[in-house]
Amino acid sequence: MRVTALAGGIGGARFLRGVLAALPDADVTVIGNTGDDITLHGLRICPDLDTVMYTLGGGISAERGWGREDESFVVAEELAAYGVGPAWFGLGDRDLATHLVRTEMLDAGYPLSDVVRALCERWKPGVRLLPMTDDRVETHVVIADEDGQRAVHFQEWWLRLRAAVPAQAIVPLRAETAKPAPGVLDAIGEADVVLLPPSNPVVSIGTILAVPGIRDAVRETAAPVVGVSPIIGGAAVRGMADACLTAIGVETSAQAVGVHYGGRGRAAAPPEAAGAGSPAGLLDGWLVDTVDAGAVVPGATVLPRPLLMTDLAATVAIVRAALEVAGV
Ligand code: GDP
Ligand code: CA
Repeated sequence: MRVTALAGGIGGARFLRGVLAALPDADVTVIGNTGDDITLHGLRICPDLDTVMYTLGGGISAERGWGREDESFVVAEELAAYGVGPAWFGLGDRDLATHLVRTEMLDAGYPLSDVVRALCERWKPGVRLLPMTDDRVETHVVIADEDGQRAVHFQEWWLRLRAAVPAQAIVPLRAETAKPAPGVLDAIGEADVVLLPPSNPVVSIGTILAVPGIRDAVRETAAPVVGVSPIIGGAAVRGMADACLTAIGVETSAQAVGVHYGGRGRAAAPPEAAGAGSPAGLLDGWLVDTVDAGAVVPGATVLPRPLLMTDLAATVAIVRAALEVAGV
């Protein structure tokens, strides 16, 4: 079976671990978000791609959920001793080696997709990991504070400001001219099932869908498309997805996120999914937590199941439910 998933960082990576456990023989392609990427100290850093690579490759910090296990922060301490920031971005010593290799390869002219493939030769994540694009797309957030109205990098808003300053807009800079990385559109078009893990709907999945061609590929694929809600009982399971949803005018609820993605209104959907779907709808199935049973997404089948990825077994059950609603 060919499975294609769009993914952000921690939520996406945890879900993918369940995909690999549920379908050990599947051919899994992951299209990763690069909108969180940032350059610090001259190094190109791709937090979401690395989170997927480290999580599936066995190198992730179990406690933090990002960065490396057995990490030290000597370089960060030395930078701080020079008064050189930013202090809000955690740069571990082991992790730095990844950024050095990546930056060296990018500087030598390799596209990011080649760099990711090279890094994955070490980590063997068990999936084909593709960046959404080889072009530089960075999510910036328009805020207004004592310094006036300005745009800051997504990482500054998320990590330094903890998304506590309201976002007036969230903009994937240069997304409109970006091209999907090689293999991305084919992976969506030729899949047997397309999954939207419970990643952030705005700054993870939303950013991937902002690369021209990707949203249309998901909408037009012959494969069933099933999403998993990152919102349970009106709140994000972790992180500040509510602040992102508020910024784009979407309520923080499993139903509202499903409606935001939209149903495709495919004939294959059972009668309870009746409805025309929305013009840009993506979903055939939408998994919500049991506390959100009753959610309705026109044009898609809504299935309530426990959605907390508390351990691998719980995550595998979520993946199986997604495959069930997909009918594969
Ligand atoms: P990030 O890039 O590291 O922020 O990670 P993602 O975008 O991939 O995922 C973040 C989202 O995962 C958050 O909005 C959380 O609500 C969601 N999430 C985290 N853990 C769980 C879980 O156990 N169940 C569900 N349904 N969502 C989760
Ligand atoms: Ca992220």
